[in-house]
Amino acid sequence: MELGKKYPWPRPARCLSCKSSRVWGHGYVQRYYEGFLRPLWTRRLRCPDCHTVYTLRPDLFYRGFRYSVLTILSSLASKISDLRWLPSIPRQNQQYWYRGLKLQAQRLGNVPFPDGDTVKGIILSGFIPVSHLLDCAMLRL
Ligand SMILES: [Zn+2]
Repeated sequence: MELGKKYPWPRPARCLSCKSSRVWGHGYVQRYYEGFLRPLWTRRLRCPDCHTVYTLRPDLFYRGFRYSVLTILSSLASKISDLRWLPSIPRQNQQYWYRGLKLQAQRLGNVPFPDGDTVKGIILSGFIPVSHLLDCAMLRL
């Protein structure tokens, strides 16, 4: 999966330091994020008035899911290794993700009890690990 430079970065309308409305693009840097094998392109912005540089963290989302990828993967990791759901997220959401994972694990590898390697394998194959759809190729960003 590649987070390219076409990602629709949210940008602040005003500088958070000096309130200037002139916040300009300032190139991209590659950053590593938890759960990703390769660095992701990360947008930088710069305020020409006070010279503050902003680095915008990508909040990645799977299509159709309102929680971020990192949240979903954290939930799966907790369920798989600690046999419990994350306390901060509604249980129904996490059960839904886990059922999706079981569905994809069965479909792609005939694995009845998915573990961390199963999740990685599904992601590296380019699929959304928690999708309930059979056609769930990940949206390329
Ligand atoms: Zn500024």
